[in-house]
Amino acid sequence: MNRQRGVILYGPPASGKDTVTRALSELDPAFGLFSRVKVGPGRSAGYRMGTPEQLQELRESGAVIYENARYDSTYVIDRLGMDAAFEAGVPVAHLGQVDGVRALLNRYPADWLTVLLWCPREATAGRSAGRGDADTPARLAAWDATQEDLDANPDFRFDLVIRTDTLPPNQAADRIRRALAQQDQRLLLVDFDDTLIDRLAAVTAWVAAYRADHGLGAAAEHRMLEAMSVRADLATFAQLRTELGLIESAYELWTRYSAELAAAVRPFPGALEALDTVRTAGWPVVIVTNGGAEVQRSKMRATGVAERVDAVCISEEVGARKPDRLIFETAAASVGRSLAQGGWMVGDNAELDVIGGREAGLRTVWISHGRPWPGGAEPDYIARDVLHALDYVRGGAR
Ligand SMILES: [Mg+2]
Repeated sequence: MNRQRGVILYGPPASGKDTVTRALSELDPAFGLFSRVKVGPGRSAGYRMGTPEQLQELRESGAVIYENARYDSTYVIDRLGMDAAFEAGVPVAHLGQVDGVRALLNRYPADWLTVLLWCPREATAGRSAGRGDADTPARLAAWDATQEDLDANPDFRFDLVIRTDTLPPNQAADRIRRALAQQDQRLLLVDFDDTLIDRLAAVTAWVAAYRADHGLGAAAEHRMLEAMSVRADLATFAQLRTELGLIESAYELWTRYSAELAAAVRPFPGALEALDTVRTAGWPVVIVTNGGAEVQRSKMRATGVAERVDAVCISEEVGARKPDRLIFETAAASVGRSLAQGGWMVGDNAELDVIGGREAGLRTVWISHGRPWPGGAEPDYIARDVLHALDYVRGGAR
């Protein structure tokens, strides 16, 4: 996977977008300002000036990735201009609206690094006056609009936040360059059962219903749950049948359970959206799960997880179970990556997901569901649920 890389600088007026872009070009001449098309009066430096007719043409040909109006002018990010900018190097696009950032991420796929350049309102006022702007009040109004824009998009997370009133431009540029280089390490391998979906709740409900149907005692229910808590395959049911004297054959029990569980299981609240967020940020996502292919795939389809990931690695198909390194290797290879490039493994099982992931050379997050860490070398991070885990992974790789 050799995708094009670009930088999106978002921030209020006079937050240092031009200065930081110049510092980036000095650090590495491959970085260059993406010049938006501007139609309207005023400053022309840094823009490709266009006419209203040209603007209309861009719109009609579907070449507009994003456009916005400000200070009586229209600013456009166009597809051809962006193609040329990537051809020339690493484009640095300036944006003042989260909608614009989202449009670029969604409509022009590339390895974008999103950077929030922030400075307090007083800093914008001071800088704007200092550089002799005639329209300082308009710039302050735009600062207020930027704050409102951020407030209106609380769920949007930038890859990097830089305070330009405290960090000098050359250091800001260096942080951006390093963050961009680290993006090559973006790879999320994630466990399925009890990480993305609440398997335990579904198993518990299934066992309770089975017990009620068959008039079993509490001890039998407890034993079934214990045996099925991590894994429930044909061998599990053969064992339980012998131990508890269940009437159905192991095969009958297992097929009934598989079908009913797939229908009953649910993703944890917000898990699907969290996967979308990670993928939108340019991470390939692969499920790594121990289990049978048929039952796992039917659960993935039923819960909507299947269409939210780039690939799926199931132990039965791979011929290796976690914590075997081979299954992690296969998962990385399924999206064109190798374990040597680094990446993350996220899961709820300390031995299979955390120890296995670490021995495969990955950084790890353990999902505790409130349990204490069982001991031994700790993961890079302990999260109470998948939302916190994925949030950390996105931020932690910076
Ligand atoms: Mg699990």
